[in-house]
Amino acid sequence: MKIAVFPGSFDPITLGHYDIVERAVPLFDKIIIAIGKNSQKKYMFSLEQRKEFIRKTFEKFPNVEVDDFEGLTIDYCKSKNVNFILRGLRNPADFEFEKSIAQTNRALTRENTIETIFLLTSSGKSYISSSIVREIISYGGNYQIMVPDAVRV
Ligand code: ADP
Repeated sequence: MKIAVFPGSFDPITLGHYDIVERAVPLFDKIIIAIGKNSQKKYMFSLEQRKEFIRKTFEKFPNVEVDDFEGLTIDYCKSKNVNFILRGLRNPADFEFEKSIAQTNRALTRENTIETIFLLTSSGKSYISSSIVREIISYGGNYQIMVPDAVRV
């Protein structure tokens, strides 16, 4: 089975994330959207809220699941027997950041290679990020245009 993990904070899930998952669905047998838990980080939405937003957003996609994990993404992938990590690329900054992570992950998994698969953001979605959405929410702005319908505050 070709399974991909799409890791991130998803605080909250945006139309940028949705676009990447929707386009990856035909490429894999299953996609696990995995929320990484970082005890040092402050989140706007609780883990349960973030999972619920994702569950509702993908309820019509039988091959998309949501889960959470602590620690390194590659250790989570190994525990789930997953060989692919899915990531989205918005801009050159994402590229540089993702390159070092993907190369580190390859170095850490020599005998059991986990490949990172990148999809370029669709035009019109590259400006969307969870941090911008949080900023708009905190000032009472129209965040709805950047998130799936399931995300409501
Ligand atoms: P992190 O906390 O690791 O930054 P995010 O939840 O922000 O995680 O994002 C998870 C993944 O989704 C990353 O690969 C990121 O590049 C991608 N992503 C986020 N926003 C967009 C977007 N607008 N278009 C394409 N990919 C995106």
